[in-house]
Formats: sequence, structure tokens, C-alpha cells
Amino acid sequence: MHTQKMQFTILDKDKREQQVDLIYTLLGCWVQNGQILGNQSPIAESTDSFKVFVNTPDTDSLEVNYSNAYTREKYKNLKEVGLRVPIVENLGVHPESIELCDCKDCGSYILFTTFIAIESPLRCGDCFGIIPLYKLPKTNKHGYYDILAWQNNYQSCDSLQMGCRIGERFGMNQMMKFNSPLSRDGLAICQKIEELTKKATYYYLYKGSARSAQLELNRKCPSCGEKWLRQKPLFDLFSFQCKKCKLLSNIAWDYK
Ligand SMILES: [Zn+2]
Ligand SMILES: [Zn+2]
Repeated sequence: MHTQKMQFTILDKDKREQQVDLIYTLLGCWVQNGQILGNQSPIAESTDSFKVFVNTPDTDSLEVNYSNAYTREKYKNLKEVGLRVPIVENLGVHPESIELCDCKDCGSYILFTTFIAIESPLRCGDCFGIIPLYKLPKTNKHGYYDILAWQNNYQSCDSLQMGCRIGERFGMNQMMKFNSPLSRDGLAICQKIEELTKKATYYYLYKGSARSAQLELNRKCPSCGEKWLRQKPLFDLFSFQCKKCKLLSNIAWDYK
């Protein structure tokens, strides 16, 4: 993940309102298309420009060839509202970033996020590296709204669970239970990605605590009821895997 500065030079000082509107519209488009990460990109206004600081999956994420048709159309309006095409400067690697997938052709995907993750929630099933969403066929009309909405909901549940004060059990059940609304939504997204890419796409089910180590080790796949304990955990995290149901889970944290 990289932090980049986008500088929009002001050519017409009388169109400030339209300029701010267009910048926000474009930022929204880039976010929906997975080119910009997160909804909180700081903007600094000065007399001659607007500077926006954004996180992007890669150094070239803002290139026009990754944009969708809607963004390209909005981009044409820059001149009309008196703004120059933004100059993009790469400021450096984000210190908390996870490596991108560098496999030539990864064999499967995993939908996975946590409450602190900024990156795309799609991981490579071979190296566990990040897959920028814009590298996938669109899962929604203009981008990846369904995946980003799932990520947002998952992170809200994970935050409740981590916060331990309000809604902890609700958040945990959403992430843990195979048939919760959150899991059903995530599984439907995995299925869609699989149809579009023809690659197995796994969904991760969180496991918090367990009553005993034995009960935990005997846990069965919640979908088909078959054994799913792996000999060795995948990526040191997923001790359970059902290849038939495309599900992954961890050993309860208190018995790891
Ligand atoms: Zn990979
Ligand atoms: Zn199964």
C-alpha cells in the first residue's frame, strides 16, 4: 500500500463549490473501483490548489486504464469546473502495509479482513498477498460496491467484538456463524467472484473461544458436517478448510 498526493491546480477561482463537489465525486469513484483505499482521504485547500492524500494498493493504481467508464466521464469535467488534471506524487510505502500478491497466476482467493485493515479484503490463496480489487472483473455496475459494503459491515462487527462493551456477542456471532446475514452476504460475494474468475474463492469464519481443546479439534464443517481439520494450518492461521464448501476457520484463540 502506498501513500500518494494528488494535486488539483485551480484555474478558475469562481467555481470553488463545483470543484470541491467534483473532487469528492472522483474520490468516491476511485474508492468504489478499489483504486483508493478507505473513505477518509485528507484534503488540504490553498489559494492555488487542492491537495488530496490517498492510500492506494500499488504505485500505478490511479492510472486511467484501471478507471471505470463513470470515472473517465467525470474526469472530463475537470476542465469545465476550472481544475487541472491532478499531478500524482508517490510519497512512499505505508508502514503498516501487507505485501501485494506477486504470483504469476494465483489458483484461488480468500475473502478476509479485520477491523484495522485498510487494504482490499481479497487475498491470494497461494501467497496470502493482497489482490487490488480493480484487477478483478467488476462485481457491481461501477465497481465493487458489494465487496466494499461487506468489508465495512465485517469491520463494524469486528470493532464491536474488539471493543467488548456494546454488541460484543452480536458482532462475534455475525463473524462466527455460517448462516449469519454477514456470512451469507460474504459467501454470495465469494460465489460471484468464483463465477467471474473461475477460481475457488474461500470465505473465512472467525472463531473466538472454545469450551475444550478436544471439542475444538473435533469441530466439523458447519455447511456439510464433514471433517475439515488440516494437518498444518494454512498461512499459520486457517486450521480448518473445507474444499467442498470453500470455507476456512481458525482454531479457537484460547487453544491455539
Ligand atoms: Zn499470490
Ligand atoms: Zn463443508
